[in-house]
Amino acid sequence: MTSPFFSLDNIDVKFGGLHAVQGLSLSAEAGKIHALIGPNGAGKSTTLNCISRFYTPSSGDIRFEGKSLLATPAHAISGLGIARTFQNIELCMQMTALENVLVGMSAVIPKYSAFFPGTRRREIEAEAIKEAEALLDSFGLLSERDSLAESLDYGRQKLLDLARALASKPRLLLLDEPAAGLRNQDIAALNTLLKQLASERGITIILIEHVMQLVMGVADSITVLNFGQKIAEGTPAEIRSNEDVIEAYLGKGDHAPG
Ligand code: ADP
Ligand code: MG
Repeated sequence: MTSPFFSLDNIDVKFGGLHAVQGLSLSAEAGKIHALIGPNGAGKSTTLNCISRFYTPSSGDIRFEGKSLLATPAHAISGLGIARTFQNIELCMQMTALENVLVGMSAVIPKYSAFFPGTRRREIEAEAIKEAEALLDSFGLLSERDSLAESLDYGRQKLLDLARALASKPRLLLLDEPAAGLRNQDIAALNTLLKQLASERGITIILIEHVMQLVMGVADSITVLNFGQKIAEGTPAEIRSNEDVIEAYLGKGDHAPG
């Protein structure tokens, strides 16, 4: 049996007496979008925080490309090819849009380039800036290249956060509620973008999201959490018709909860 591209194997997370994640297992195939859904407080962000190594599960394993991530500290994660966005946007608000993308890129710009002769160093910097501009352009943000992140509206800050995450050229992308607060047209654009990232660039995506229109539109598979436990797993069609999920989360109307 070949091991999956990415997996959580029976992880537990406890905060004092609170058992926030309980024996959770899931796996994601390369180039697929795997959604993690469930009510507020179900343990979704905690799970993502384990994968990005902010938290360490008290038991279980997290495996990526055949290796355990448990020995990897949070600061080394982007060097392994994993990037994330945050439920509460984490941009450098006093930096420009371009600078934020360059920060995201820093994991893949060789550190020793600082010691290169000036001309070579400037070449590397110019290449990085060109690449960052292309990324901004693909998000419709090139006109905001020199705007401070704090001056962008919420939707554009969300897009910039995603551009920053992609700047490190991740193979695994972790997204915590990327559509929250976006307008319908931006959600439609995000839908197209996520599918492209997975199918054209082969990026594996773990997507936490309450906007069901997006989840059902892009996910190849879905895991549903409730009170830290997996209550269902399957394709969007299977999840939509699962009685336990309807009871705990979706409701009878099949509209976006929360
Ligand atoms: P979700 O993202 O599904 O809304 P979270 O993973 O943020 O849920 O939270 C799961 C549970 O763990 C909640 O009860 C939350 O209050 C608790 N929790 C999350 N982070 C911490 C923490 N750092 N310390 C204590 N409790 C926490
Ligand atoms: Mg959360």
